[in-house]
Amino acid sequence: MEEGFIVKALSGYYYVENNKGDIYQCRGRGLFRKQNISPLVGDYVQFEQHDHNEGYIYDILPRKNLLVRPPVANVDQAFIISAVTQPAFSSVLLDRFLVLMEFHGINPIIVFNKVDLLVEHEKDEWKEIQQCYTSIGYDTFFVSAKTKEGISSFMTRLKNKLSIVAGQSGVGKTALLNALDPSLELKTGEISNHLGRGRHTTRHVELIHLGDGLIVDTPGFSSLEFDGMEEQMLDTCFPEMRTRKDECKFRGCSHRKEPKCAVKMAYENGEISPFRYEHYIAFYEEIKKQRRY
Ligand code: GDP
Ligand code: ZN
Repeated sequence: MEEGFIVKALSGYYYVENNKGDIYQCRGRGLFRKQNISPLVGDYVQFEQHDHNEGYIYDILPRKNLLVRPPVANVDQAFIISAVTQPAFSSVLLDRFLVLMEFHGINPIIVFNKVDLLVEHEKDEWKEIQQCYTSIGYDTFFVSAKTKEGISSFMTRLKNKLSIVAGQSGVGKTALLNALDPSLELKTGEISNHLGRGRHTTRHVELIHLGDGLIVDTPGFSSLEFDGMEEQMLDTCFPEMRTRKDECKFRGCSHRKEPKCAVKMAYENGEISPFRYEHYIAFYEEIKKQRRY
């Protein structure tokens, strides 16, 4: 039996790559089929070669995490792409992506794209936004898929990782992947004028070798619902709250109305950004409401 990982799933076949870079077209054959578990792109598997480039998968190794849309396992990190403009930056959307990644155990990396469109007087404001996120502990990059500014530092972060790219439509996810590796030739959507948003142009799920790492060619988190989350675990998805919540007077403090709340105190002293705290409250209410149905 050999070990490999699935780089592509298509019409009941799994394309398994071994450590030499050989790819085998495999069918599932193991016990996992009786447990209703399907192999996924990103899965490490035990397989047996039968023809020269065909084989059978007999076992799926334990997963670190698992995404439904797109269906991928073992994702290490996510590049969350926002545009500095076109479409307009939304901190609530970025925070929603960050929470979802934290919830799934995926390390988020924040990327602000289209810096070529920034005018001089806007740059200080962007430094402040960046400072908010770096002070929480997030890595942030400013890049332009168009001029390739900042692209090389981004590239080094791909090494030995399975990454996904996430972000609203039109922010330049496809353009960035193409800028990183022009041979990908992924189709970018043109911004439609009346909506100011791009179309979805990428479809199938496949892992691409890029910068000594692997990247999922389909944007992650097309659904931004807080599925499966409970409001009590939301504070663990905000790093600046996660590190403070043990100092709250009450265990299970929701950091809203309780007295002697360390999170609220940090917010009041300006140690937690007001917009981050407000987003926490908004997401908390949303999850609570959603769980009532
Ligand atoms: P996606 O929906 O996130 O994959 O976005 P696309 O990659 O399709 O890009 C949407 C639009 O933004 C396209 O018209 C791109 O040409 C444009 N675009 C992407 N990156 C940049 C950039 O860095 N600068 C500028 N000016 N335009 C960009
Ligand atoms: Zn609290």
